[in-house]
Amino acid sequence: MSAGVTATVEERRAAAKAAVARLVGSTGGDQVGNLVAGGWRPARSGATFATLSPADGEELARVASSDAGDVADAAAAAAEAFPAWAGLDPVERKRLLLRLAELIEAHAEEIALLEVVDTGQALRFMRQAAARGAENFRFYAERAPSARDGRSLPTPELLNYTTRKPIGPVGVITPWNTPFMLATWKIAPALAAGCTVVHKPAEWAPLSAARLAQLALEAGLPPGVLNVVNGLGETAGKAVTEHPAIKAIAFVGESVTGARIMAQGAPTLKRVHFELGGKNPAVVFDDADLERALDGVSFMIYSLNGERCTSGSRVLVQRGVYEEFTAALAARADGIRVGDPFDPATEVGPLIHPEHLAKVTSYFEVARREGVEVAAGGRPHESLGGLYVRPTLFTGAAPHMRVAREEIFGPVLTAIPFADEAEAVRIANDVDYGLAAYVWTRDVARAHRFAQALDVGMVWVNSHNVRHLPTPFGGMKASGIGRDGGDYSFDFYMETQNIAVALGEHRVPRLGS
Ligand code: NAD
Repeated sequence: MSAGVTATVEERRAAAKAAVARLVGSTGGDQVGNLVAGGWRPARSGATFATLSPADGEELARVASSDAGDVADAAAAAAEAFPAWAGLDPVERKRLLLRLAELIEAHAEEIALLEVVDTGQALRFMRQAAARGAENFRFYAERAPSARDGRSLPTPELLNYTTRKPIGPVGVITPWNTPFMLATWKIAPALAAGCTVVHKPAEWAPLSAARLAQLALEAGLPPGVLNVVNGLGETAGKAVTEHPAIKAIAFVGESVTGARIMAQGAPTLKRVHFELGGKNPAVVFDDADLERALDGVSFMIYSLNGERCTSGSRVLVQRGVYEEFTAALAARADGIRVGDPFDPATEVGPLIHPEHLAKVTSYFEVARREGVEVAAGGRPHESLGGLYVRPTLFTGAAPHMRVAREEIFGPVLTAIPFADEAEAVRIANDVDYGLAAYVWTRDVARAHRFAQALDVGMVWVNSHNVRHLPTPFGGMKASGIGRDGGDYSFDFYMETQNIAVALGEHRVPRLGS
């Protein structure tokens, strides 16, 4: 690496750390605080936790560690702000949310740097994620004026029409893998619908959520409309799911956490929307454009450190092209640029946290015990050390093996051969998850037939994951409940009401006379 590039990387790291210092200075002084009713404050108990830099293990900041009392304050603020926000002219809500989108765009590089320093994700992807955050707000801002729109369902006697109302204050609980993008994906439609929000960001990467909330205040969102409560899942997160003023929970995270949240929310009859884990198959038929398939398959597992719910972490390859394709995949994996996440050339950065490193590397052992071949990687990165692992490809796996069934959530791909379409469907569907799938074939009829046979919420044919925001996003089976995107999100954040109005004097049954 040349000195010039090194200097630039160091400058970016310094800029990120300066952004963290500004964030601490402006949200708590000695910590990143909570945002409640438009003001930043520490947890009532004064407790804090540390957020660490995955690249060097350094403590980046102390962050408020909240408990049920702090959540109650935030829920009360959201409940107080709700009637005015829900009643606001939606054109004004649109204006405020567009302003927020503009502010995100204006600060996109700073947001990307905060995200890189806090998550270890490579800069090239975090720049895109910041831009997508702005797009999420822009998209839902434009739809705010039509969020209440309903249907007309008339009969000869009664005009039935539906309308929608925001459900109330909602809780948004997000994970650490692409925290800014995911927070905006949930918060933008909630606010556009007229809901107020209590956001509990992931404790391993909480910084960009505080920046988002600052920008929301700057955009002119009234106090209490967006509140942020930092803390651990089992304390702060749990309290959000249990609070009676919170009417719905939008959750992105692991499937086991989703199950816990459902139980925690049961006594208060919470509406839940879950975007959970995946073990998504990429299925390569022997008639596919193998060069494009190679690009698509390797991108969908080795981008974003493989810490991505829609990563194609299983590749099912038809036997006739299996050896050739997996050999090419192994070469790609070996060629992936692993390195400093602030280097724009880097494709895979460090994993988020020592605990996550332990989880990912434990599968290297599992693979050896299960007897699969390690065609690439399968070990930590010797020269970089720290939380870096080598992009990994396991080959010759059987569908029953743990490496073929469990979500590893790292840059680890498991290849499984198949004979024909029927076997490919069986293997693809034979896991607990059902989020996404990628299909590579030139046979149009097979593409449709195969896609429809898959028990997953989203299928991309001859493509990597390309999002179009009006389309439904979400999973089947253990991968989730509900769909996001376009109007689907409004259905979650709003109640549908039917109003039936008599058009004349139809017969009303008379009792008692
Ligand atoms: P996680 O479930 O451990 O944590 C997610 C969030 O839930 C965090 O904010 C955490 O503090 C909170 N939480 C934990 N326990 C809680 C509890 N009992 N009550 C309330 N909140 C609680 O997930 P993670 O490790 O942060 O994220 C990785 C997971 O997220 C992976 O499984 C990945 O597939 C999934 N994910 C899914 C999507 C999707 O759209 N389907 C997108 C991104 C990530």
